[in-house]
Amino acid sequence: MKKIILFIAVLLTSCSQIFAQRPTSDPGHENHYEVLYAKENNLNLNQSSVRKIICIGENIRETDLSLNTLGKRISESWKVELYSTYASTEQQTAFTECKHGKGGHHHADLLIFEILDDEGNQLPPGVAGELVITTLGVEAMPLLRYNTGDICTYYDEICECGRTTSRLSPVSGRKQQMIKYNGTTLYPQALFNILNSMDCIQDYIINLVKNELGSDNVQIIIALRQGSVNAESQIKQGLQSALRIVPELKFGSLAEIQKLQVDEGKRKINKLIDKRK
Ligand SMILES: [Zn+2]
Repeated sequence: MKKIILFIAVLLTSCSQIFAQRPTSDPGHENHYEVLYAKENNLNLNQSSVRKIICIGENIRETDLSLNTLGKRISESWKVELYSTYASTEQQTAFTECKHGKGGHHHADLLIFEILDDEGNQLPPGVAGELVITTLGVEAMPLLRYNTGDICTYYDEICECGRTTSRLSPVSGRKQQMIKYNGTTLYPQALFNILNSMDCIQDYIINLVKNELGSDNVQIIIALRQGSVNAESQIKQGLQSALRIVPELKFGSLAEIQKLQVDEGKRKINKLIDKRK
């Protein structure tokens, strides 16, 4: 409970500071909470001084680089420039978008990156595989062909900003979270993107389990928004047309789902429970 209170306190402090301290950029992964906080407290985010947000740890774009639901929700309520970043403490550098939003620019003097298939072969631009990095700018604990587990692709044509460096795509999933379902392979991120875009869904959690035949089983527990009509068939149709699959759907209250999402010891709300191991 203490952790939850601390978590909320950190968020509220972050949100209220946006109004109190007049920063012009907001490097954080909680900006969607700021949007929610502002909505609930009738605050106009556009009266804050923030004009640019660097988004870390949460995709704001689809794999085609258009804004995803989260990116759209932030930009609809807040007239800011959004920049996506891929980074980790170990690599000591970041792939960050320029204002054209065409993938995170690579700093070739600080890092070597490769996109590999399951056999370790290097993949060409536009083909998704695992991101593997070798650090050039880290002295105490350098990484040599470190498997990040993140599935990405890259682009190598010259960016509209004029830079010639390669650019990294949004992460389409974690390698170990790949789901094999009814002959299709997909990543939970694809499910998140569809579910986040549906207005009838208030919140959800995805359960991955192995069935008795050893195949992956996907169950989605959903809290519907009040007053939703024909929600179940809408959700099934949405999943079928976007992903060609219809997982098992269950419905629960918002309180039940939010209880399942709390991952003890982690700050982040967890929308995926993977019980396949
Ligand atoms: Zn650029």
